[in-house]
Amino acid sequence: METIVMAGKPVAEEAKSRITAKIELAKAQGRKITLAIVVVGDDAASHVYKKRLVKITESLGAEAMVYELAANVQQAEVEKLIEKLNDEDEITGILPMMPLPRHLNSDAIGTAITPSKDVDCLNPLNAGEVYLARSKWAPCTPRACMAILNYYGIEVEGKNVVVLGRSNVVGKPVALLLVQENATVTICHSRTKNLPEILKQADIIVAAVGIPSFVKPEMVKEGVVIVDVGINAVDGKFVGDVDAAVSAKAAAFTPVPGGVGVVSNMMVMDMLSRCL
Ligand code: NAP
Repeated sequence: METIVMAGKPVAEEAKSRITAKIELAKAQGRKITLAIVVVGDDAASHVYKKRLVKITESLGAEAMVYELAANVQQAEVEKLIEKLNDEDEITGILPMMPLPRHLNSDAIGTAITPSKDVDCLNPLNAGEVYLARSKWAPCTPRACMAILNYYGIEVEGKNVVVLGRSNVVGKPVALLLVQENATVTICHSRTKNLPEILKQADIIVAAVGIPSFVKPEMVKEGVVIVDVGINAVDGKFVGDVDAAVSAKAAAFTPVPGGVGVVSNMMVMDMLSRCL
């Protein structure tokens, strides 16, 4: 059986035409569509991500406004900026780049974003809607994972899916979305015992652990489907959380780069269009 390389580009392209049509319609009605990107400090990955988002936002005919704050900015100042953006009619959606510097309380900053402008579902009200499975909202990266599986015809119903990682932005919400699609989901994290044994049972692995090449070929079964969320800088290149050698055993896998990340960026645009 031939291995399917689940490239992100066609998935993103398919979503793009739908999103562009919505943005064009809103513009024709005289509405301005602006994404506010808040970057704190000099985290290199955040700045790369910011540049990509600005480019993609503009390519869809919307506008991006970047707000850069110093690494040592105080919590109150970030929240003040968020509140100002909440109140500005011209701002459609708000996205703070994560991770924020450690002295800042990311939860409180997410909570400060008004729910209707909360592009990455950081406000607990939106996260709660995802938990209750009744939401038009869900964080962008988990939605990207689901869009990829759907596009490449990977059925999740009844499958054993192992989600590696339990962060609020990736692991937990992707597990919820998978359960909503009737998968049987196991969430693993740094305290999980016998991880290789659990991984070996998986029909599908969603890896969001943030450790380069963490999942090795001997940990997975033949024919596994790999969704690799990881983006780790190693020797000036980006590698995933799954060792490249795993692809030889996989029925399908997302490449890094060029997999989940590409779709995730487009999902930001999708969420922006939902804020309209
Ligand atoms: P995170 O907040 O650091 O969470 C990592 C998770 O991995 C935690 O739940 C942690 O467990 C778990 N973990 C750490 N070491 C482990 C180990 N040895 N065994 C098992 N589990 C372990 O990371 P994140 O924000 O979810 O991001 C994960 C990865 O995805 C990163 O590489 C990030 O760059 C990437 N990412 C990509 C996109 C995209 O668009 N493609 C978007 C967001 C993030 P504990 O909870 O026990 O600490």
